[in-house]
Formats: sequence, C-alpha cells, structure tokens
Amino acid sequence: MSNRGKPLSSFTPVSLLGSILYILKLWRRHWRQALLILCLMTIYLLFKTYFAFMLKAIIDSLQATGQVANLSFIILSLVVGSVISLGARLIVEQRIARIGAAILNDLRVRMFKHLQQLSQGFYLRTPIGTLLARFSSDLVDIEKAAGSKMRDLISHGLEILYNYPILFYLNWQLALLSLLLLAGMAFMLGRMIPVASAAGYRLKCGEARLVGKIQENALAQALIRAFGFEAQMLAAFEEQIVDLTERGATATYLRASVSLVAKAWMMVARLIIIGVGVLLVTRGLMTIGSLIAFLNLAELINASASDLVRSDLPDFIGAISGIQRVEELLQERPDIVERADAIVMPPLQHAIEVQNVSFSYTGEENSLEGVNLVIPAGASVALVGASGSGKSTLLNLLMHGHEATTGSICFDGVDLRQVRRSAIQQQMGVVFQESYLFDTTIRENIRMAKPDASDAEVEQAAQLAEIHEYVLRLPHGYDTRVGEAGSFLSGGQRQRIAIARAIIRDPAILILDEATSALDPGTEAAINATLRRLARDRTVISVTHRLSSVVDFDHIYVLQDGHLVESGSHAVLQQQGGAYAQLWQKQSGFAVSADGRNGTVHAAYLRHIDLFRTLDFATLQTLASRFTPEYVGEGQTVIREGEMGDKLYLIARGQVEVLVRTAQGDNLRLDTMHDGDHFGEMALISDAPRNATIRTLTDSLLLTLPKAEFLALLQRLPSVRTAVDTQIEQTLAHRDRLHEICA
Ligand code: ADP
Ligand code: MG
Repeated sequence: MSNRGKPLSSFTPVSLLGSILYILKLWRRHWRQALLILCLMTIYLLFKTYFAFMLKAIIDSLQATGQVANLSFIILSLVVGSVISLGARLIVEQRIARIGAAILNDLRVRMFKHLQQLSQGFYLRTPIGTLLARFSSDLVDIEKAAGSKMRDLISHGLEILYNYPILFYLNWQLALLSLLLLAGMAFMLGRMIPVASAAGYRLKCGEARLVGKIQENALAQALIRAFGFEAQMLAAFEEQIVDLTERGATATYLRASVSLVAKAWMMVARLIIIGVGVLLVTRGLMTIGSLIAFLNLAELINASASDLVRSDLPDFIGAISGIQRVEELLQERPDIVERADAIVMPPLQHAIEVQNVSFSYTGEENSLEGVNLVIPAGASVALVGASGSGKSTLLNLLMHGHEATTGSICFDGVDLRQVRRSAIQQQMGVVFQESYLFDTTIRENIRMAKPDASDAEVEQAAQLAEIHEYVLRLPHGYDTRVGEAGSFLSGGQRQRIAIARAIIRDPAILILDEATSALDPGTEAAINATLRRLARDRTVISVTHRLSSVVDFDHIYVLQDGHLVESGSHAVLQQQGGAYAQLWQKQSGFAVSADGRNGTVHAAYLRHIDLFRTLDFATLQTLASRFTPEYVGEGQTVIREGEMGDKLYLIARGQVEVLVRTAQGDNLRLDTMHDGDHFGEMALISDAPRNATIRTLTDSLLLTLPKAEFLALLQRLPSVRTAVDTQIEQTLAHRDRLHEICA
C-alpha cells in the first residue's frame, strides 16, 4: 500500500494540478470562508502596494516642489492602513487554522468510518504501523497542504498577480526586464529543487530505517541478551549512522545552496534593475518616486516568487503524497456491500443451512470446497479439523464477514445476502481464542455489546459468565480498569469477561472460536462447564481443534483441506474410525495435570510416530517413561532453524507455529501444530540441522525425548535396533523424496 518509495514522481505538474484540485474539493464545503479569506488577503496585499505608492508620491512631490502636501494625512493613512492590514491578516490566519482543522477532522471521521466497513482480509494484509501512519503523519501532511501551504500558495500567487500590472504601469520596459529576470530564476530553481528534494527524501527514508532499527533492538532485547548480540546490533546501528550522516549533510547542503543561489540571483537582479532604472531616471523617462516604488514592489514580487518556487510548491507537493496514501485507503473496497433492500431477520427459529459453499480468499485456491451442512436452531454444533482446514473461514461466512464464492448460506431459509448484516450480528455473541478487552473498566467492556444495558444487566451477564464474585472482590469492583488489552487480568478472567460481553445481548447464537484453547486444563474445564450451561437454550457453534471440549455436542463436523469429510456425534464418529477417530486418539495420548505444567505420554500414542511404529508395547512403555515435560510460555522459540537438533518434541497441550526463513530474511509461517502433534523427530536419527523454527502461540506443555536417551535405549535393546533401522531407512528415503519434490 505504501508508496513512499517514489520521491521524484510526485514532482510532476500533473500531480500538482491534481493535488490542488483535490484540496479545492476539500475546501468546497467552506467556500464562504474561502471567499472571505480571499477578500481579506487582498486587503492585506493591496496595503503593501498602497505603501509603495505613497512612497512614490512623497518622493516625487519632494523632488518637484521641495515639500510634501498632506504629509500628516499620508502618514496617518499608512498607520491606520497597517493596523487594518494586520487585522485582516490575523483573521486570515484564524480562518485558515479553523478550516485546516475542520478538513483534518472530516477526513479522520471519513477514514475511521471506512475502516469499520473493510474486511478482515484488509486488516490481515495491512500492517498496523501503516494504518497508524495514515492517521498521523499522512493526515498531518494533508492538513498542512490544505491549510498553511494553501495559504502561502494563494498569498504569494496573488502578490505577484496584483503587483505585476502595477510594475507595467510604472514603467513597462523595466517591468519586462524584471519579468525576464524572474523567469530566469524560476527556471534555475526549478532545476535545482528536485535534486535537493530528492536528497531530503533520501534523508527521511534513512531516518525511518534508523527508527526501524531502534524498534527492532527494543523488541529483540531478550534475544540480544541471550545470544550476546549487543556488539552486532551496535555495529549495524553505527553503519546506518554513517550512511545517515552522509545523507543529512548532502540534504542540508543542497537545501542551503538552493537558498543561496536564489538570494544571489535576486541580488544581481536588483542591481540590474537599479542600474537600468537609474539610467531611465537620468534620461527623464521615469521619476525617482516611480523607481523607488518599482524597486519596492519588485522586491515584494521577487520574494514571493522565490518563496513559491523554493518552498511553497515543493512543500505543497511533499504534503500531497499524504493525500495519495489516504486516498488509497479510502479507495479500498469492502468485500461485502449490503443491498439497499436487505431485510431484518427475527432470531433464528429453524436452522442455518450451508448449501454447496465454496470460498476463495484469493480467487485462485479454494479454502472451502462444496461444503454442505445444517446447524439446527438450539443445537450445539462443532467444527473441528487440523489447522488450515477451513474452520475459521466457515465461521466467518456464517457470521457474514465474507460472502460465499459459490453456493449459499440460508438463515431460516433466507439467503444471508438478502439479510441486513447488523440483524445477524445482533443475534450472535462471539468469544474468540484471544478475546480483546478494551482499555477501560470491566463494566464498560461488558456493556459494549449492549450500550443501553443497565448496571444490573451487566452484573447479571457477569454472574452467568461466573466472574461476578471475582469482580466484587476487586477494590474497585466493576469500575476496575483492565489495562491495555486486558493485561491486568489472567487469561481465564479475560475469557470470562469476554463471555459476559457475548451473552449480555442474550444472543440466540453463541459462537466460540477456539474460546478455551489457550487456557490451562483446569481453567478450560471450568469455563467449558460455564459455556455448557449458557448453551442450554441457544444455538452454539464452536470451532476448536481440541476435541475434548466438544465430545457432548449434538453434531460434530470434521473439515479437512476445505472439505467436509465426516459428521455425526462423538460416539458415531469414534466408531467410524476415520479422521475424527484418529485425531481423537492422538489428542488423548497424554495425561496432563490441571495446571497444564506437568504430564506424561501414553505408550500407545507413540505408535503415531513413524520411527516407533514397529516397536512392541513393552518397549514403547520404556520409551514413554523417558519423556520429560517442558512447560513453555507463549511466544517462545522452542527450536531454531539451522541449529543442531538433539530432541524429539511432543505437544501434549498447546499450539505452536512452524516458521521458515525466506530469501528476504522474513519468517514465513508454514503451518501451526497443536495437541497431539510432534516435531523434531529427525534429530533422533540424523545429525542434520533443524529445517524450521518452532515458536509457541500459546502457553504449551511439551514432552521431550533427548537423543542420548534414545540412543542408550537402542544400545541396550539390539532387537529394537533392527526394527528402528528399517524404519529409519524408510523415513530417510521418504525425506529424500520430499526434498526432491520440494526442490
Ligand atoms: P482453520 O481455522 O481451520 O485453521 P482457516 O479457515 O483459517 O483454517 O484457513 C483455511 C485456509 O484458508 C488456509 O489454507 C489458510 O491459509 C487460508 N486463509 C485463511 N485466511 C486467509 C486470508 N485472509 N487470505 C488468504 N488465505 C487465507
Ligand atoms: Mg482458525
């Protein structure tokens, strides 16, 4: 989205004209004020001209008669005039400031409104920093362009426009000469300024990069300390500083030389005009008074012209890049445009039907493919499947956050496309995995979902979410502030407040997107019990990868790569022995303590790991006893790409992401893994470096088997060795095949 990378293209006349038109459009609402400003500005400027004329009158009269008639009147008129012109100028400043602020705030509101309509996809692909820049530096640019820069442009433009005819009136030959000199200056500065501006732009880019480095340094402090990267970071910083010093010096020098050249040119021009003017006076072709008035006005014009070329236009154009970026944001189209005749639906009575729905984010690959399913009113329905299988996507379609590419979703028989979106939102209460709490009080966080709710209603919702007692024990009760993103509360408390917020509307449909996945087992069980109670008279749609939280659901739909592959109750699916049953087996392979910090693996689970597939049960039991629990907090790197591996990891509980480094040096998320998945198996059988980085997304309990333990076991049990050897061969062969495919 950003186009800060095009410094010079913005110096084209097209974009200047376009930008002036754009600013004029912003001004249109304030046209009365604009007229007033023009009038006042004219008063201010004409006074300067009047001043020069009075000078001429005084000197001419002195020269002709040796005295000045009406001197006191002239002086008085000049004094009164300067007071008036100052007053006019002050009013201009005040109006401009007001209009600038009004335009700025209009744009802020327009942009914010617009942001509310944009799809989630937009937020996924737009870094927050970019959004913030649109609202800060870019808008400030526009305010400047629409306010003070526009004022300078107009006042300097008018000054030239008003005074040139007078120069011609005073003496046309001299006026023509001065016009030529002025054109010469404009031409020369016109060549120099883009070079200076480009240097200024490069300086800005360098500064932005430096800020980026500082930010990186702050964010990565833990890593830097752990690895002793301090010296490297400093070296990199110093390298940029050297570069920045060079850029700064160049930019400052070029700016100064433009200014100097302009001054020198004006000086020479003045001398030429004076020389020629004196010649004209001695030949009797011009009076001394006229010459002085001429010099005075020519000075005003020159100063205005030099300001125009030297700072007004470049500054104005510089500010214009903000316009471009803000406009880009405003041009961003929402995915769903509601139909004018969309209808309001009463609460769900029969069912939501998903009919042959396919959906693609990109227009190429389908994230959902021909999905058919029914969510009966009042039932509890789970969408389960591996990560990336399309659960969240389907949920989004159900909430009308996206529209199906083909197929339809009907709400009591009415296609969602014909339904007012707010009418659907009003019926739904949603709890996400990471429930965002706003930095305000607990009461306001809950009330947000129903702004007209009374305090009693808020407390009732909190009671239902079983957080009321806790809140009462806080010193400020419901008026306790939760901190930025709810940071003063524990994960479980945050989720309970989120649940209170979801149910204060008494929604017909309760939507849970991994609502309890990030919690420890004890808290998860408690919150699931709460949710079960709340689910009683509602339709519940729960998306989860953790099957244990949905075993008692009425319908479980299993997604795989965007396809619906199985459906039924837990018992039925278990019996079928398909994808669900396999997933269940994997996930139930562990015993985890209630706080989620300790656990063991069941021997049977180990059969899922290729390497151990052929081992007998007794050996598996020995092996299982060799695993040690490792509790890893959220956001920690477990293994790092390129380092030598020495352990096998099982995820007893939690969620991790698999990252690989791209050629550009960014981390690309390949996959996420959770309960029942394992990684790092290769480390046990080969001395290869890790081929990916694994980082935790939630607090996770990992069970690890060190390579040494495994090798010791192989030595003690030769029979195991042969079984494992064949498996190793197969695994390595499989890996080589994969490498070939990837290459
Ligand atoms: P789940 O919730 O089951 O983990 P998702 O519904 O998030 O899966 O994703 C399904 C597929 O759609 C994945 O392949 C994912 O990469 C892709 N996907 C998800 N969100 C987007 C998006 N905003 N843009 C493009 N692709 C997406
Ligand atoms: Mg998801």
